[in-house]
Amino acid sequence: MLKKKLPSLQSFLALVSRRASHLARQQYDVIIVGGGHAGTEAAAAAARVGAETLLVTQKIQTIGALSCNPSLGGVGKGQLVKEVDALDGLCGRAGDWAGIHFSILNRSKGPAVWGPRAQLDRQRYREFIQAELLSTPRLTVVEGSVEELLVTEPNPEEPGQHRVTGIRLANESHPISASSVVLTTGTFLSGSLFVGQTSSPGGRIGDAPSSAGLSHTLRERLGLRIGRLRTGTPPRIVKASVDLSLANIHPPDSQPTPFSFLNTHTRCKPEEQLPCYLTYTTPGVERVVQESIHLNCHIQQDTKGPRYCPSIESRVLRFPGRRHQVWLEPEGLTSDLLYPQGLSMTMPPDVQLRLIREIPPMHNAEIHTPGYGVQYDFVCPTQLSPALQVKSTQGLFLAGQINGTTGYEEAAAQGLWAGVNAARQALSVPTVSLSRTESYIGVLIDDLVSRGVTEPYRMFTSRAEFRTSLRPDNADLRLTLKGFEEVGCVSSVRYQEAVRVKTGLQDALEALQSVTLSTHNWRKKLPDVGMSETKNSVLSGMDLLQYKDVTFEMLANAFPECLSPYMELSQRLKIEAVYRPHCELQKKEIERIQKEENMSLPQDLDYFSLPVSLSQEVREILDRVRPSTLGAATRLQGITPAAIVHLLSYVRNTQQKERRSHRHKADQKEREEKMRAGNALPQ
Ligand code: FAD
Repeated sequence: MLKKKLPSLQSFLALVSRRASHLARQQYDVIIVGGGHAGTEAAAAAARVGAETLLVTQKIQTIGALSCNPSLGGVGKGQLVKEVDALDGLCGRAGDWAGIHFSILNRSKGPAVWGPRAQLDRQRYREFIQAELLSTPRLTVVEGSVEELLVTEPNPEEPGQHRVTGIRLANESHPISASSVVLTTGTFLSGSLFVGQTSSPGGRIGDAPSSAGLSHTLRERLGLRIGRLRTGTPPRIVKASVDLSLANIHPPDSQPTPFSFLNTHTRCKPEEQLPCYLTYTTPGVERVVQESIHLNCHIQQDTKGPRYCPSIESRVLRFPGRRHQVWLEPEGLTSDLLYPQGLSMTMPPDVQLRLIREIPPMHNAEIHTPGYGVQYDFVCPTQLSPALQVKSTQGLFLAGQINGTTGYEEAAAQGLWAGVNAARQALSVPTVSLSRTESYIGVLIDDLVSRGVTEPYRMFTSRAEFRTSLRPDNADLRLTLKGFEEVGCVSSVRYQEAVRVKTGLQDALEALQSVTLSTHNWRKKLPDVGMSETKNSVLSGMDLLQYKDVTFEMLANAFPECLSPYMELSQRLKIEAVYRPHCELQKKEIERIQKEENMSLPQDLDYFSLPVSLSQEVREILDRVRPSTLGAATRLQGITPAAIVHLLSYVRNTQQKERRSHRHKADQKEREEKMRAGNALPQ
């Protein structure tokens, strides 16, 4: 299933620029602003749902660029990649195409929290994403900078409700109209770049910031609350100048595991994969940071940076005297550069050189491009609905770093969902949401829209309450069928594959239940398995598969006639068997929670006059965030359990009253109709 052919980058660019100069129409269903990780998924998803879509981005050649680390996935993030893939998104297949070092992180723990991860070849990743977008039907790609977002003023019947009508490009007088616009401008909104004591406007090295007009519309016309965050990236090191024999080699997995459910293998063959190297900081690194901190204005600002991916300056200042890990990662199969993960820094370039030379493998290292920091505006995401639509502006959707997240995977996941909903809104079908009980994407969006962010948000498995059900291996069963049947973003090819797998798993699980033997006979069949049962009870193949040292292959050898047809699913069956008892308990818990979680809170509720016991502070939070469900209200910071109980009983009572009133009206109508019918009878 892995695609073998890609157009060359040159032929791609030629095609795209032709498209750009002949923008066929001035009216689209959906416009996506920004061709980063959120924008590319949003554009492809909107087009898959059936919307005529336009992607506008500053530079075609940076579509799919990896601004920072050349890697995808990891613990929590890998789950997002699998879910994006299950919904027919791009990043999983792009990872399989561009990966040059695959590993499953957290393997010592259970498969629910394994983290599929790959080092990527930057150029291959970009090429794949660009080629995919170009071949997506209903999608037009244009190079340009969006200068202005066009919105209507609220009309008197809907106070505070704007509606998006389109965009205007810089240096173009004609607007381009659309029913929905998705903003995915990443770190570019009022972006400033920092190196040492100098700062300049920009969203990424070599790229201008997003236009001031866009920020102005969001802040002034739409009145959105905007915050400021920062992040940074390490210098890129010339590989030939590093003595890798002084670092610890970390080989990839001997057999690469693809991200995509459609792929059985990766483009890079097992033996072609490249290793990573691990080394550590020394006291010399700490000394250089201490001596030069006054030369570093990025670090001195009190803007919040990524806690889980901090700069070397922050790490050294926070944990003096410790040594810190530095991973030396390949940037591509043929690249001459190394990416030193853990050394994000913003000191002046000469100090950066002094610092890296304090680390033994880099004693003589040369820097190709210095590290730098970026500070940017983000829109406080509690102003969004679970569909990622700005609550006060119909048709305006936001996704990615603009919502206060960090990371490609978080951006891709939001992009896909915003693209889906922007298309549905434009096509006049109701928007859809994913719950935190069915996906990490649901957890991510719910955290953003109900809790907001105070620092760059990244995904962890610990954020998901139901992580044993939300495993990377079963993302297709959780999402692909829904994605096709209810959401409309999954192709029939992928759907049929998911149905085939689901049916195969169901049949195999039934077959496993049907093979039963007494403990005594199982011991004879599988003498090497240490069975704990002392009584001579009857056990099924399914029971046996839950044993740590029993594999599906062993059972298939014992019962070839009924189990060997399912060998292809052996690893998935093992995981299903191990997690099944726990997942069944969790399912009941999920059903209970879902009942209350999904209870809608009317969007026009006047929290200040609700006749229930709520503190002024709680009323203010509820009024500001306007959670769409009771579940979302539960997770708001500052909302007490007591407040939730009052809210729950208020909503229940109101619903009961409404139901009673509906019944009363229906009864009355029926009585009146009967009377009319009676009066009409001939005398
Ligand atoms: P981006 O990938 O940034 O894409 C935004 C796109 O929008 C760009 O293509 C841009 O050209 C386009 N655009 C912007 N404004 C306009 C406009 N007005 N008109 C048209 N197009 C426009 N992530 C981590 O996980 N860990 C890190 O350590 C880390 N460090 C980073 C360091 C730096 C310096 C940068 C720049 C990013 C870093 N990231 C890091 C973040 C990671 O790159 C982003 O999280 C991810 O790329 C966000 O995706 P996005 O789609 O939201 O934005």
